[in-house]
Amino acid sequence: GFNCGIVGLPNVGKSTLFNALTETAAAEAANYPFCTIEPNVGRVPVPDPRLDRLTEIGKSAKEIPTFLEFVDIAGLVRGASKGEGLGNQFLANIREVDAIVHVLRCFDGEVTHVDGSVDPIRDAETVETELLLADLESAEKQRDAAIKRARGNDKEAKERLAVLEPVIEALEAGRPARSVTLSDDQLPAFRQLQLLTAKPVLYAANVDEESAATGNAYSAKVAARAEAEGGACVVISAAIEAEVAALEDPAEKREFLETLGLEETGLARIIRAGYGLLDLITFFTVGPKEARAWTVRRASRAPQAAGVIHTDFERGFIRAETIAYDDFVALNGEQGAKDAGKMRAEGKDYVVKDGDVFHFRFNV
Ligand code: GDP
Repeated sequence: GFNCGIVGLPNVGKSTLFNALTETAAAEAANYPFCTIEPNVGRVPVPDPRLDRLTEIGKSAKEIPTFLEFVDIAGLVRGASKGEGLGNQFLANIREVDAIVHVLRCFDGEVTHVDGSVDPIRDAETVETELLLADLESAEKQRDAAIKRARGNDKEAKERLAVLEPVIEALEAGRPARSVTLSDDQLPAFRQLQLLTAKPVLYAANVDEESAATGNAYSAKVAARAEAEGGACVVISAAIEAEVAALEDPAEKREFLETLGLEETGLARIIRAGYGLLDLITFFTVGPKEARAWTVRRASRAPQAAGVIHTDFERGFIRAETIAYDDFVALNGEQGAKDAGKMRAEGKDYVVKDGDVFHFRFNV
């Protein structure tokens, strides 16, 4: 599965947010299997009304959503890249995640801030500087190693060097690795560098309860920064998310959100943004036993989608029988779609579309 690491300076609301997200998720997911939640890892079901429709039309006995994982990564302080605080452990934890949710304090109040005042842009820069410094150190080491190997005419080392040069230049100028423009065939070498600033970032501007629907002056600055970087920003109030999480009745939840001028939980908005950030799409399988949602990267081909379900499905892939979600619904299910000629047989080069309903045919 795909995962997002929640990072930020101390006292900005990371734990409050993480706990609220996973509690909300646990409540919503009470009916689903496989929803074990470790202390700092939460598997959060991705809300998708399309799955409800498919379950209904397919008369499936069970409905299983797809999940996104959130990891609470505590311990970042100024100097982490030099091993301060939980520095090295912290950086190692970030290396493991697909995307970063960067929580920024955008609320005033009694809570002590490590740097004495509320300034989300300064905080963002503090965290990003640590990640940049860690990357610079790692990239320089990798360059030294690649230079040695490139002398022996090592093709891979040369490719790596060609990527490392612009990356190091960017890092030295204070720009993240993800800002470097590379050609498609350089991407594998780039990924192998495993740089922290290569990961997409979503800012979670944590505002006071009164500003949850509108945002405030602090969150506006964060949004502007995200836009300038081509990144994403979600306004949330961790305090409100905690209150929502404490409500058990879904109707009560909805009502509470409505009184605050909110259409949905911060959880739903963060998940949607995370999906966008990671360039993920959802496909479905629908049968009498279960209707289920699955996640793949956009531009994945049919065998890769089959592989998400089972590696055997990918290895022995023959073809995918595909119905678009809209056709499945409009024609009242698989038989109707089949009769109307809307079930297509697609081969191994088929590029998966968001909402595809699949049957995979494979050799064992
Ligand atoms: P962490 O160190 O980043 O994990 O921060 P915590 O989640 O422990 O929060 C630090 C303090 O800020 C706690 O006392 C929270 O109750 C408070 N806090 C977190 N989010 C909000 C918020 O949205 N509004 C207000 N007023 N306080 C918050």
